[in-house]
Amino acid sequence: MARTPGKPVVDEKSATASGGEDDLKEATPRKITRRCFLGTMTAVGASTLISPSHLNAAEGFEGWPNRFGMLTDLTACVGCRSCEKACNEANKLPRPSAPFDDASVFNDKRRPDAKAYTVVNRYADPKDKNKFVYRKMQCNHCNEPACATACPIHAYNKTPEGPVVYNENLCFGCRYCMTACPFYVPAYDYDSALEPKIVKCTMCYGRVKTGGIPACAEACPMGAITFGKRNDLLKLAREKISKSPDRYIDHIYGEQEVGGTSWLYISGVPFEHLGFPTNLPKRPLLEETKGFLSAVPLVFTVWPALFGMCYAALRHRDEAAKEKAETEKKEEVKHE
Ligand code: SF4
Ligand code: SF4
Ligand code: SF4
Repeated sequence: MARTPGKPVVDEKSATASGGEDDLKEATPRKITRRCFLGTMTAVGASTLISPSHLNAAEGFEGWPNRFGMLTDLTACVGCRSCEKACNEANKLPRPSAPFDDASVFNDKRRPDAKAYTVVNRYADPKDKNKFVYRKMQCNHCNEPACATACPIHAYNKTPEGPVVYNENLCFGCRYCMTACPFYVPAYDYDSALEPKIVKCTMCYGRVKTGGIPACAEACPMGAITFGKRNDLLKLAREKISKSPDRYIDHIYGEQEVGGTSWLYISGVPFEHLGFPTNLPKRPLLEETKGFLSAVPLVFTVWPALFGMCYAALRHRDEAAKEKAETEKKEEVKHE
């Protein structure tokens, strides 16, 4: 059954308050430290690492019929940004400089980034120029995620529950996933130069795994985001569209795009007016991603990552040397 906010089907007492770092680590089957990864790089060579045979083959992503999803009804969204606020709190992200009720943010089109895993943008209603349509965006939790296919060290994982999660401990900052994602979702956390980190919405995996509801769905005062089993959400979306054909266009975005996504949308206006990519294939991007990665010159992909890692290592060494020199100086002063 689909769940509307405030009406969880299962006991929500056990739900965690956030997406749960530990849960994300647990969701990834094996753990590689950066030190180990760098050692491996030296041993096998970077070119071996990115050869097509080493790409994270995702043919195993067959999907799970009971997996969860989210349905955003854009006709119900009023742009209040309560979902953004709830996401910010659940993921313990830095507070934004402007408050969440500051409508000036709608003057620009925003994308999810390291400080906001979900954002709401405003678009002119093509049917009535005096009205607006609001669109919440975040990771769509693809059925067969291109980010996971692209990641050479399996940092991404499509969980049986539906969310696509990510283990930052494995990331070495190559950013293949950013290039591969058809929705341009993964963001690079530039504040962690020494610890490369890609971030994105986790569909509140920690909550979902323990029977809870993702924070944004729970917070939406308009019931515009429904959490539930993806199959139930598809039925619900079809019912809504067939009952109110004047209110909705006949398209469930995410039902088929790139092989289907866990996050679905229904809308009163065509999706191309709301910044959705509408030229995506119905099949997953797995083959395209692999083809792309084997064709892109090293200079555009691996070398920036290698240079980044070398830079980080050198900076770390310099800082350690500086710290040591300062400590020695203090000791000398003490003994004078
Ligand atoms: S939307 Fe992008 S980041 Fe999210 S699962 Fe799909 S490919 Fe990965
Ligand atoms: S599911 Fe969780 S992480 Fe994703 S947008 Fe909603 S609150 Fe944020
Ligand atoms: S909380 Fe609900 S109504 Fe408010 S912006 Fe988010 S999706 Fe729209």
